[in-house]
Amino acid sequence: MSNLVLGIDIGGTNTGFALVDEYGKIHFKENLATLNYVEFIDLAKHIFSIIANAVSTNSELLMPISIGVGAPNGNYFRGTIDFAPNLRWEGIVDVKYAFDKFFHVPTCVTNDANAAAMGEHRFGSAKGMNDFVIVTLGTGLGSGFFVNGKLMYGHHSYGGEMGHIIVESEGRPCGCGRKGCLETYSSVTGLKRNLLELISSGSESELIDFKLEDLSGKMIEEAAGRGDKASLEAFEMAGKYLGKAMANVAAITDPEAFILFGGLAQAKELIFKPTTYHFQQNLLEIFKNKIKVLPSALSGNNAAILGAAALAWDSVL
Ligand SMILES: [Zn+2]
Repeated sequence: MSNLVLGIDIGGTNTGFALVDEYGKIHFKENLATLNYVEFIDLAKHIFSIIANAVSTNSELLMPISIGVGAPNGNYFRGTIDFAPNLRWEGIVDVKYAFDKFFHVPTCVTNDANAAAMGEHRFGSAKGMNDFVIVTLGTGLGSGFFVNGKLMYGHHSYGGEMGHIIVESEGRPCGCGRKGCLETYSSVTGLKRNLLELISSGSESELIDFKLEDLSGKMIEEAAGRGDKASLEAFEMAGKYLGKAMANVAAITDPEAFILFGGLAQAKELIFKPTTYHFQQNLLEIFKNKIKVLPSALSGNNAAILGAAALAWDSVL
C-alpha cells in the first residue's frame, strides 16, 4: 500500500478533493458545493469526515501524509486565502489552521495557477523542466512561473500575475480596477468581449443577437468551427494579445516552454495558432523557434486537484 496525499481544489462553486499517490493516480475522489459552508472550518471538517469514513471502509486507502490546497488568492507563505473575490468567505481565511485541526499533517496552500504549474511539473507536460510558464485561460487569466526548478512566489506570495499585465493603456476595464489588462482580451471572458466588440464594429456573425452573459466560450468555438467571421477574429484577437505578452515574458524569464491550460486552451488550434504566430513574431531573435508552446497534459476535470496534490507531495518528498 503506497502513501497518499490529499489534493483539494477550492473553487467558487465546487470544491473537489482526492487521495492521490506519488504517480498522480487518483484513489478516491469527491466533490462538495463550496457555497454550502458558511464558515471555512465547516468545509474542512466535512472533508475530514468523508476521508476518514472512506479510509475506514476501504482497506486500499490510507489517511493522507500531507495536504495541498489550490484556491483563488491562496497565500503559500501564510497558508491562507486572502480576500478572494469569488469565494463566499471574506477577508483572510486560515486554511492551514482549519486542516491542521482535523488532519494533523502538513498543509500547503497556493493559488490555482501555481497549483496547476506544480501539477504540470510533477505529472504533466512540464515533467523534467526547470523553467516554464503555465498560463491558465479560464474566466480570468492566471499564470504560474517555474524558475531555476522552483515555483516563483515572489516576496508577498502574489508573484506571476500575467493576467494583469497592461496591454492597452486606455483599454477595457478590468476586475482589478485598472484598464487594459491582458485577461480582458485573452481569457474566456476576454474572448466574449472580443466578439461583441468585433460585431459592434461591423464584423458578421451568427451570434449577433447574443449578450455577454448569454455567450459561452464553447459557443464561440463552435461558431468559429463553422467559419463564423467574427468568432474567428475573436480568437485571433485573443491570440494576438496573448502571444505578444508571452514574448515579453520570455524576454524576462527565458523559459523552455509555455503551457496553455483551461477552457480557452481546449479550443486547440483556434487559440494555439494565433498565439504561437504572434508569439514568434514578437520574440527576441535569440529565442526564435526555441521556446515551445504546449497544451496541458493533465485531463481537464482532475487537473486542478492533481496540481494541489503535487503541492502536497512537494512538501514531503
Ligand atoms: Zn487587471
